[in-house]
Amino acid sequence: MSSKIRILSEDVIAKIAAGEVVERPASVVKELVENSIDAGATSIVVDIRAGGMETIRVMDDGCGMSREDALLATERYATSKVQNEEDLYSIQTLGFRGEALPSIATVSRMRLLTRDGTSQVGTEVYREGGVTARVSDAGSPMGTSVEVRNLFYNTPVRRRFLKSVGTEYFHIHRVVEQMALAKPAIHFRLIHDGREVLNVPKTEDPRVRIEAILGREAYKALVPLEFRDETISLRGYIGRPTLTLSTAKSIFIYVNGRFIRDRVVNRSLLDAYRTLIPRDRYPVAVLFIDLSPHRIDVNVHPTKREIRFRDQDKIYRSIHVALGSRLKAAPADERISRAVEAYWQEKGVHNGMREECPEYRAIDGEGVAGSFVFPEFSRDTRTGGFYSSLSPMGQIGATYIVCQGPQGLVLIDQHAAHERVLFEKLRRGLKNTTIVRQVLLFPHVVELSHAEGHIMDTYRDELERLGVEIEPFGGNTCAVKSVPQVLGGEDVESLVEDIMGELASEGRASQEETRTERVLTIMACHGAIRANRVLKDEEMRGLLHDLEEIEFAPTCPHGRPIFSEIDYPQLDKMFKRR
Ligand code: ADP
Ligand code: MG
Repeated sequence: MSSKIRILSEDVIAKIAAGEVVERPASVVKELVENSIDAGATSIVVDIRAGGMETIRVMDDGCGMSREDALLATERYATSKVQNEEDLYSIQTLGFRGEALPSIATVSRMRLLTRDGTSQVGTEVYREGGVTARVSDAGSPMGTSVEVRNLFYNTPVRRRFLKSVGTEYFHIHRVVEQMALAKPAIHFRLIHDGREVLNVPKTEDPRVRIEAILGREAYKALVPLEFRDETISLRGYIGRPTLTLSTAKSIFIYVNGRFIRDRVVNRSLLDAYRTLIPRDRYPVAVLFIDLSPHRIDVNVHPTKREIRFRDQDKIYRSIHVALGSRLKAAPADERISRAVEAYWQEKGVHNGMREECPEYRAIDGEGVAGSFVFPEFSRDTRTGGFYSSLSPMGQIGATYIVCQGPQGLVLIDQHAAHERVLFEKLRRGLKNTTIVRQVLLFPHVVELSHAEGHIMDTYRDELERLGVEIEPFGGNTCAVKSVPQVLGGEDVESLVEDIMGELASEGRASQEETRTERVLTIMACHGAIRANRVLKDEEMRGLLHDLEEIEFAPTCPHGRPIFSEIDYPQLDKMFKRR
């Protein structure tokens, strides 16, 4: 019998390994820029042609390399950043695997030009398909320039996987933005086909950099965040809940200076916005998480985009608490979001691109879910006093309350408004000992599916705390004996079904707090006055009064706006008075 197993040739092995690091031109840019950052550069220029598929050149004014190092740099596992295994657990640099340069060199034509502070003359190393073809002295400023041409020229299959110039360019643009956001002290330039597309001078002030990258409108809607506990330190800027986008493209998360994608962090962030923004919208956030390198493992994936936290629950809590206590309500101003969307469109993030870039569709396949504790609100714009300043004039469509406000016409969605009121009342009840329950005269018998029956068993105690008392009633049925009083005891069956459905859909449910918020949201929705219901004057006034009683909120717990305003200048414009 002949053997079927063969040992792969060095050449194939090298290409497989390269494939793990170099997926597309943007990966090359990421690795080269990381090297420049690690080299202490204060200025980095990324010059690309044809979306990086033709040429990528990254130039820096960092420490440069000696001739000896320049030759070693493109050898596998050659690094100046780590010496022994222990170092892997205290990594301060972006690189450490010693894989990037050799990997890139294996699948391209690479020219390295570099000079360090002690050398009089620079070194040029030219490699083709990973083989050194030429080494020579060359004039060079201090620093390093790496040019990568014809990426994947010798791996045609991979080359075929590349997308259009536009898409590859777009990914490169993203990578440069991600780095630039985290390193305001470095001057970044990006040049595509000879045209300068990004130029952000160095600055001491991280806000200047954020404004330069995210645009003025987004910047204006951000609030600074600083938080520290025994596990992590958090700093950054988070968007007010009224600034939302249809994709997660404006969420930038860094751990110890490294841009990452992480489920736990994403979830805690989105959970913090949960009752403030609509389910299919995403907030803006630039978050820098710093923690002891011992608490994370960055050596999980060759691209270093993923990390592993030693204590995920703690990280989740810390971020959730930090954002929760910082987020402040701001006026429901759709105009901000629209202006920001427009800004991104202008930058070339057109819709077609989203199809090709899953990361922009959602940062978490399971969608947005979670909860958030409403803290004090900002006093700058519409806060306390807003709802009581409105006089209801009547209703239209039995759905919207028409009000005169100090600044013009205000429309209120009666269901959304009442939902928020009930939600806050329930939550308040929960905080002060208990939710007042209404014992049902006759217990309602509800049929449950097998899965729902299981859910009921799991969460019975929790639901009881929320005012819903349920008892098994044999087979797949249960008896509901009480519901929260504010709900009025109507349509108990569908309430319980919806709650079970929500709990079931949640899968490996996260925190109890999150679950509670979701159940309260459902309760509020069930108890709230519906659209298409005629309201009496005193009911309308009562609703506005109740809205004023709770802390100011511009949205219902699902995140839909409660009110919309047309101010006098807008009215004047509509009627051509100006
Ligand atoms: P790593 O960054 O993981 O160490 P790389 O293959 O990216 O591995 O780089 C190998 C080594 O080459 C680095 O450790 C560093 O010493 C040197 N090097 C790479 N790029 C630069 C640069 N732009 N400036 C100075 N030194 C560099
Ligand atoms: Mg590197």
